[in-house]
Amino acid sequence: MKALRLNAWKSEPVLEEVPRPEPGPGEVVVQVGAAGACHSDLHLMHDFEAGALPWSPPFTLGHENAGWVHAIGTGTRGVELGQPVAVVGAWGCGTCRHCLDGLETYCERPDLAPVPGGGGGLGLDGGMAEYMLVPAARHLVPLPDGLDVVHAAPLTDAGLTPYHAVRRSGHKLGPTATAVVIGVGGLGHMAVQILRATTGARVVAVDPRGTARDLAGRYGADLSLSPGPDLVQEIREFTGGIGADLVIDCVGSDDTLAAAAACARQLGDITIVGIAGGTLPVSFFGVPYEVSVQTTYWGNRRELVEVLDLASRGLLTAATSLYTLDDAAMAYQDLAHGSVDGRAVVIPTDSYQP
Ligand code: NAD
Ligand code: ZN
Ligand code: ZN
Repeated sequence: MKALRLNAWKSEPVLEEVPRPEPGPGEVVVQVGAAGACHSDLHLMHDFEAGALPWSPPFTLGHENAGWVHAIGTGTRGVELGQPVAVVGAWGCGTCRHCLDGLETYCERPDLAPVPGGGGGLGLDGGMAEYMLVPAARHLVPLPDGLDVVHAAPLTDAGLTPYHAVRRSGHKLGPTATAVVIGVGGLGHMAVQILRATTGARVVAVDPRGTARDLAGRYGADLSLSPGPDLVQEIREFTGGIGADLVIDCVGSDDTLAAAAACARQLGDITIVGIAGGTLPVSFFGVPYEVSVQTTYWGNRRELVEVLDLASRGLLTAATSLYTLDDAAMAYQDLAHGSVDGRAVVIPTDSYQP
C-alpha cells in the first residue's frame, strides 16, 4: 500500500510503497477514510533537531484520522468490522492514572507505551496511508450518526486540542467574558466554534490572513482582527479596558505570546497551544495579577466523544480542503504557504475522488 513517510528530521515526506499492516492480538487495522494535515507535521519536517522528541523517524505521517474497522486481531473486544471510527491519536500505557483518565498524551509510564509521548503519526505509523495499525481497541471511538469520516478526522486533533483548552477554562467563560483565539487555522477555526457552542463568552479571532478572519466571522466570532501594533488596544477597547478572560494562542511565537499577556485580564488564562517556539517571560509585574499560563497537549478520550457529539449535532464543522494521497505532500506545502482555510484533509482511498 502507499504511505506518506517522514524518513528523517528536517526532510520532506515521501510517498512510498510499504507492507499493509496485519493486526496482532488485541490490535485493530483501520482502513483510513481521511487524515488531517496538522501544522505540527510541518514542525516535524522543518524545526525539530534529532533528540528533541522522545521518538524519531521513520514513520508514516498523519495523527488526525478516521476510517472503518478493517481487521481485528485475536482477543480484541469492543469493535466491529466495517464500523466507522475516529482514532484517538495518543497511545500511552493504558494503565497509569492519566491513561485511565483517557489523557494518554500525559502517560506516566512511557516505558510501557508503544511509543513514549506519541502515537500514530507521531513516532509510529499514522493515517496518511490506505491502512493504519491501531494497537488497542480503546483508541477507537465510534462515529455518531450524521458524522462522516472526512469531517470526523480533523476533530481528533484540530477539534479535540482546542476543546480541551476551552473546557479547562470553562468556569471563567460566562456571558460577560471574552475569549481571544490567536491563529484561525485548523485549530483556531474549531476553537471559535467550540467557544460559541459551549461557553457564553464573546469571541475575538486574530489572524493576518483575510480569508481566515472571514472564516472566523462565518463561524461566529464577534470580532476578527489582524495582528499588529493596534491589536492589544483593540482587544482592550472591545473588553471595556479589562482584557480577555482566556487567550488561546494557536501560534506560540514571541509576538503572539507578548500580545496574549498584554491583552489578558487579571485572573485570566493564557493557554499556549501553538508550537512556534516563542517564550513568554513571566515575572511579578510582567503579566496581569493571577493570570495562569499553561501549555496543553491534545485532549482526553471523553472529550473526543463530546467533540464528535457536538459535530453530529451541527454545532462544530470542520472547513476542509480535500487532497488525494498522491497529492498529500502538496497539502503540507499549501499549509506551509498559508493557503489552506480550515483543515487540509487527505483521502487515502483510491476510489474516492475529492
Ligand atoms: P495552521 O497553519 O492551520 O494555523 C495557524 C494559523 O495561525 C494560520 O491561520 C496563520 O495565518 C495564523 N498565524 C500565523 N501567524 C500569526 C500571528 N502572528 N498572529 C495570529 N495568527 C497568526 O496550524 P494548526 O494546524 O491550526 O496548528 C497551530 C499550532 O498548534 C501549530 O504550532 C501546531 O503545531 C500546534 N498544535 C498543537 C497541538 C497541541 O496539542 N498543543 C495540537 C495540534 C497543533
Ligand atoms: Zn496535530
Ligand atoms: Zn500511561
